[in-house]
Amino acid sequence: MAYRYLFGPVCSRRLGVSLGIDLVPLKTCTFNCIYCECGRTTRLIGERHEYVPTGQVIAEVDEYLARAPDLDYVTFAGSGEPTLHSGIGEIISFIKDRYPRYRVAVLTNGALLGDPDVRAALMRADLVVPSLDAVSEEIFQEINRPCPGITAGEVVEGLTTFAREFTGEIWLEVFIVPGQNDTEEEILRLKSVIAAIGPDHVQVNTLDRPGAEIWVRPASSLALERIASTLGGSTEVIGEACSSQALPQKAAEVTDLLLATIRRRPCTINDLISTLGLRPAEISKCLRVLEAEGRIESVRERRGIFYRAV
Ligand code: SF4
Repeated sequence: MAYRYLFGPVCSRRLGVSLGIDLVPLKTCTFNCIYCECGRTTRLIGERHEYVPTGQVIAEVDEYLARAPDLDYVTFAGSGEPTLHSGIGEIISFIKDRYPRYRVAVLTNGALLGDPDVRAALMRADLVVPSLDAVSEEIFQEINRPCPGITAGEVVEGLTTFAREFTGEIWLEVFIVPGQNDTEEEILRLKSVIAAIGPDHVQVNTLDRPGAEIWVRPASSLALERIASTLGGSTEVIGEACSSQALPQKAAEVTDLLLATIRRRPCTINDLISTLGLRPAEISKCLRVLEAEGRIESVRERRGIFYRAV
């Protein structure tokens, strides 16, 4: 079965072997972050809708999980902000009722957590990974470029309320953009807000592949370690992806798997090897064909040659 709303499983840097569920069309989001690995937001929106049919997503999830795959997480992520989808709560409940052995994670920018309906929808998830890149309004606007009306103060308030109500785990992500949110003052402001939110874990991240704006550069490992140490507590710098050995070979579906992954974010051959568990020769051959067909293109960046969907 070719899936429209599922992708992977991928070997995620944070979540291990993770089956992705994508609930919004590329690229629908409440933010237009300068570092977004999915590219610029084409639909900057704050209203929740059933962007893709809930029933069809549930049918795909049911078909996939009925095979009892070995997964660390089923993760809501992909082409934009998953909490914009009005059916996310129903889909999470379906997974937890029918397949309780699977842990459910939601990656979110946290912009809608001020909405009680959104908080209620996420209550049955096992893990929520919200991001918070800045507390100062000016820096927040510069980095996250939110939908008009969304402020840093509201995001912090929504996050704080959610953390009080949610009984699962919260891992807060801070994405560092050198020259924007890496000053001592902003990191100390973040530290004090994070203490009030009280997440279980804090992860510091930086650019790993081409972002929405080409001038955005990654922070150095040294800078990330310094920031993690200032934030203190259980803060860690996000590391490498897990071993490709964790995933089974899927030779018959290589093209679909590569396209589904590249469509969501640009990848190098090494990224594809480590996230999809495919053989290098198999990947290279498939990429050559896809490029010749004009379905993908390559671009050289600091970390190597990235392939992205055309
Ligand atoms: S990084 Fe996340 S929150 Fe920011 S624009 Fe991309 S999808 Fe939206």
